[in-house]
Amino acid sequence: MNISDKEFMRYSRQILLSNVGEHGQIRIKTSQAIIVGVGGLGTLVAHYLAAAGVGEIVLVDGDKVESSNLPRQLLFSENDIGKNKATVAFIKLQQQYPNIHINVRAEMFTDVLQLDYSKQTVVFDCCDNFESRHLINRFCVKNSLPLISAAAANFSGQLFAYYPSMSGCYNCLYPEQIEVNDNCRSVGILGPMVGTLASMQALIGLKVMLGDKQVFGKLWLFDGNTFQWRTALLEQDPSCSVCVNTEQHVIKESVA
Ligand SMILES: [Zn+2]
Repeated sequence: MNISDKEFMRYSRQILLSNVGEHGQIRIKTSQAIIVGVGGLGTLVAHYLAAAGVGEIVLVDGDKVESSNLPRQLLFSENDIGKNKATVAFIKLQQQYPNIHINVRAEMFTDVLQLDYSKQTVVFDCCDNFESRHLINRFCVKNSLPLISAAAANFSGQLFAYYPSMSGCYNCLYPEQIEVNDNCRSVGILGPMVGTLASMQALIGLKVMLGDKQVFGKLWLFDGNTFQWRTALLEQDPSCSVCVNTEQHVIKESVA
């Protein structure tokens, strides 16, 4: 596959980067992003990825736009209240980026979601609840898919990048029996906090699409009061019920 002269001009500032180039832009173009949760994180991640030229984007969300979403979910306006988030995001992004193929799943994520993994796929966990995070994690472990997960609530943000056999998984970090209740519904959030995490999530995702494996197994924590980032390694818990001794499908060579 090649890129056209028009694409070369459009993405020229990306192609200038030594670790992108024309080959990297083709990798981005032939990648698929599955974005689960099209809210504060998901709308921004989808927007950045579409703008960067990610060839296929799948938006998964069964929720509807509410007025309390508007301070941080910048794709939505008052006219969208009551409409499905994934559908509204699809209409707006498709209008702005007609060259990108966007699929809509106006439903809550389940592990039986039928998707095509023939492309280089990266999953983005942009949801806002503990149950869905575990479900997405299990799905990625089972299908050997890279997962970039982000969360933001109050002035705390967290990100991690999982890849099978290279790191621990979400369940290693927060076993299912531990209840984590902090989310923006209960403890509040400022829009730019979500934006900070979403930008990092999109950046890490693009690096993965370009073949960067250094990000896997890393955990980033952001303090929005002191503006400090901390990094840790997400090591596998030998007693994890999800990623230890779990039968996995063949790891996709395209990411290696
Ligand atoms: Zn695990």
